[in-house]
Amino acid sequence: MQKFFLYARKSTDVEDKQVLSIDAQLTELRTFAREQGLDVVEEFIEKQSAKIPGRPIFGQMLKRIERGEANGIVSWHPDRLARNSVDGGQIIYFLDTGKLASMKFPSHWFENTPQGKFSLSMAFVQSKYYVDSLSENTKRGLRQKVRMGIFPSQAPLGYINDSRTKTIVVEKKKAKIIRLAFERYAKGNQRLEDISNFLAKNGIVSRGGKRIHKTRATFILSNPFYTGLFNYAGELHEGKHEPIISKKLFDSVQEVMKLRGQPERKAKNEPQPFCGLLSCTECGMMITGEYKVKKQKNGNVHHYTYYHCTKKNKSVKCSQPCIREEELNRQLSSEIQKVSLPRDWAEELEKMARSDFKNSAQSVSASVKEKETKISVISQKLERLLNTYLDQDIEKETYRVEKAKLILQKKSLEEEMTSLSHKHNDWLEPMLIEPASWRKNSAHRRRRCWIPNPEFIGENGRNRVGVASQRPLLVFFKAV
Ligand SMILES: [Zn+2]
Repeated sequence: MQKFFLYARKSTDVEDKQVLSIDAQLTELRTFAREQGLDVVEEFIEKQSAKIPGRPIFGQMLKRIERGEANGIVSWHPDRLARNSVDGGQIIYFLDTGKLASMKFPSHWFENTPQGKFSLSMAFVQSKYYVDSLSENTKRGLRQKVRMGIFPSQAPLGYINDSRTKTIVVEKKKAKIIRLAFERYAKGNQRLEDISNFLAKNGIVSRGGKRIHKTRATFILSNPFYTGLFNYAGELHEGKHEPIISKKLFDSVQEVMKLRGQPERKAKNEPQPFCGLLSCTECGMMITGEYKVKKQKNGNVHHYTYYHCTKKNKSVKCSQPCIREEELNRQLSSEIQKVSLPRDWAEELEKMARSDFKNSAQSVSASVKEKETKISVISQKLERLLNTYLDQDIEKETYRVEKAKLILQKKSLEEEMTSLSHKHNDWLEPMLIEPASWRKNSAHRRRRCWIPNPEFIGENGRNRVGVASQRPLLVFFKAV
């Protein structure tokens, strides 16, 4: 009695669209087996394509045939069994060696005779040829399209595939929205999420009806297709389709994306003005600042800056609470007040500094002028020296030596001039009560003070904060 294995394979290949579904195959095969009186001992169902060798179920089946568990196969058509040369060859080999005695197909006649084996091999070869030529035809067709400047795939948003002319055409309504999205983003003040929102508002959403993800927005905004080009197989091609944005707009969008795409360098916790300057008197660790935004339910937003001990000392358990910046400012100011100049003194000193500056400015400009004259004298001398040499009144060696001297002098004078004007501009600004550079930033009017040698600042029993010694004692603080 012959024992049969039933083998069905799912149609995963494009070309298998005509072939029966797996359920239909099974129904047909079971009926067929019953009608033929075949003894089916097991059914094997494969979900992989037959194009590439290495189908796991098929392999198992052959192994069990080798072990003698069955000696016949029933399947829909030879092409279900083999579409690559290895699998086909193995089946023929099993027939030759007697491991397989019979093969049954509802759609193919087979008899275990030389003629039957010949026609079976032909069926295998034919299905392999079909697969090969199909993928070749497909590739050829795509290449042809690319050469003609037609994107051989699904048209991106804003375009549609015209099945009649086999080209890609503009979908006017959506194209307009896409163009507006590019224009918006190019302004530089929009996030990708804003673009997604804009698209959603205009009916361009994800398949699930939600706002498109920002990676999709990125994809849209960086697709050169909209400028009339297209990417295919890693290469940029010139397309025949109508562009909907200019290359210039596209380029500026790419520029914005590059700038905005950089990871935000802003630290989560920006260093505050007093950071690194103060230390805790209880445990000796540094005082750090933290900026907090508090949003109330009624919509009010409060901005706070707190300072607190870092509490990094492992041997002391520090009990100091945090302190608001305003309070720290008040305490520091009152401490600094003790050692700062009285206002009228400061004003008097500033007046003197300004008058010194004016005087020095005059002397600086006088000495700059003097150096300028010297330089022009040297230039004249150089000219005369060259003429003398050209008139052959002096030797070449003399000319070389004299010229070198003059050039060196000139160079030093020029350098002196530059450093004079630099130095002059440097010294007054830091001494002023309200320098111009602070006025620029009126929201943060900061005063700059020297603290001679404070060891201890701001003790109110709760917040004990000391100025860290050995730190630069230049303190910036908001005027309170
Ligand atoms: Zn502490």
